[in-house]
Amino acid sequence: MSILPILYADHPALRTKAKRVSAFDASLRRLAEDMLETMHAARGVGLAANQVGVLLQIAVIQVLDPESEVGLAEPIYLVNPEVIKRAGERTVEEGCLSVPGYRAKLKRSETVSVKARDLFGREFRIRNATGLLAQAIEHETDHLNGILYIDHLASLDELYKVAPQEEEEEGDEEAADDAEEAPEAQVSVPVAVGPEGRSARSRASPRARTRAS
Ligand code: ZN
Repeated sequence: MSILPILYADHPALRTKAKRVSAFDASLRRLAEDMLETMHAARGVGLAANQVGVLLQIAVIQVLDPESEVGLAEPIYLVNPEVIKRAGERTVEEGCLSVPGYRAKLKRSETVSVKARDLFGREFRIRNATGLLAQAIEHETDHLNGILYIDHLASLDELYKVAPQEEEEEGDEEAADDAEEAPEAQVSVPVAVGPEGRSARSRASPRARTRAS
């Protein structure tokens, strides 16, 4: 496994719609492992392939799970994901590993259902995800379509800077995923993840905080 460089917001790969995966082979799984390791190193909760310059529809999400011994839910790999249902609206705080040092409040769905394939090409669904998981699904599928969370803001003036240190906290989550293997769920947990969006202490998930993806 290796840690890949994460691209920043002005990079064209982040503005390009990724192509659907058709070969569910060893190289896809190697990419997935590298993405997971890269996400852990950056302390994110999610990472899309565009963010490491690969224009394929694959994203990984791993949120905190207080029920788990290691504190993390198993990673979820979303290949060719399609959001099939969204409901409700809530305000969350969000960040992105490709827009480091900033965060903003924005509207996301209360619940999100997604259909995707796993690393072996098997179709699965996550129904009515809530909290940070829902937020991460929207954030990552946006990435795969060339969309950044800042595109949802009325103005970039809504971004605020966050201290690097603050960036490291994270939160907990209500995960609930399924995800097949968790090759490495035994990562260093403590600080864990927070990825994608650091959702705030928002109404919907009072304790969830996230970080970037
Ligand atoms: Zn992101």
